[in-house]
Amino acid sequence: MKKIGLLTSGGDAPGMNAAIRAVVRSGLYFGMEVYGIERGYAGLIEDNVVSMEMRSVSNIVQFGGTKLRTARCMEMLTKEGKDKAVATLEKHGIEGLVVIGGDGSFRGARALTEEYGVPTIGIPGTIDNDLAYTDYTLGFDTAVNTCLDIINKLRDTMTSHERVSVVEVMGRHCGDIALYSGIASGAEIIVVPEIKFDMEEIVAKINSSRANGKHSNIIVVAEGVMGADEFGKKLQELTPYSVRPTCIGHVQRGGSPTMADRMLAAQFGNKAVRLLNEGIGNRVVGIRDNKIIEMDIIEAVSMKKEFNYELYETLQMISM
Ligand code: ATP
Repeated sequence: MKKIGLLTSGGDAPGMNAAIRAVVRSGLYFGMEVYGIERGYAGLIEDNVVSMEMRSVSNIVQFGGTKLRTARCMEMLTKEGKDKAVATLEKHGIEGLVVIGGDGSFRGARALTEEYGVPTIGIPGTIDNDLAYTDYTLGFDTAVNTCLDIINKLRDTMTSHERVSVVEVMGRHCGDIALYSGIASGAEIIVVPEIKFDMEEIVAKINSSRANGKHSNIIVVAEGVMGADEFGKKLQELTPYSVRPTCIGHVQRGGSPTMADRMLAAQFGNKAVRLLNEGIGNRVVGIRDNKIIEMDIIEAVSMKKEFNYELYETLQMISM
């Protein structure tokens, strides 16, 4: 394969730039021409294609966001949209495509593969960590570290005033950001979409922690369950302790990627290009048990993410 394309799609995630760099540099290493497609599938449909050189990706490894920008593009769901996308690839002679994004973006890649025979490689880039086939997605570690920084600060002020903090984190239908940031911050309670919650039980837990000498409580609520304001209001009706809601919001999506995300980006990007260089497409790359893996894109998008109940129990046992 001599000409490859690359796009970022869906929600942005810290580490996407580092992955762009890894794909471009690996492609150039193999003597390929590498084309960046701006604004995800929208740019593919509208022919926003730029040639990527060695220096196009200088000084980006440390930045959040995506240099190629990203978009959600409804036209890609239609036959006309997909026809245009493939016409752009043909116009530039692009033989294989690397797609950095979440499950929606992978569905787009799968459509190009299944319906048009375009070899695609998916790199999991989403803060949500909601893809079943990989232990971690690009951006998740940075997002959780951003949450930790904020929860640490909330703990300071909540303890001074003996309050209860309700912290809303992202993750859509996946509770992993809440689970990991809850455990790592020492939150007493997490509320995730995968497990039904009982407000009475939460109140009882707050009461028992106060009886045991605790001066504040942190409750991490995943956005897929409820907003912090609504949850805080419901809780305030049942407890005498003062409740303060905080929605962390979009800061979770930005910021300099952590070492873990940069390492994933380097390895995912390099692996994706190695596969295309061997003429292999229709795969996704990921990490499982600390090893970089690849698997069939169709199989990967059909897998159902399993919640880590053991980690959830760990939080129950150590946070009180
Ligand atoms: P995140 O998890 O961060 O939101 P994502 O990749 O899941 O990222 P989506 O908005 O679900 O984000 O999808 C990104 C884009 O992928 C869509 O806007 C659309 O252009 C394309 N896409 C999604 N599903 C399909 C599909 N079934 N066929 C073709 N293209 C699709």
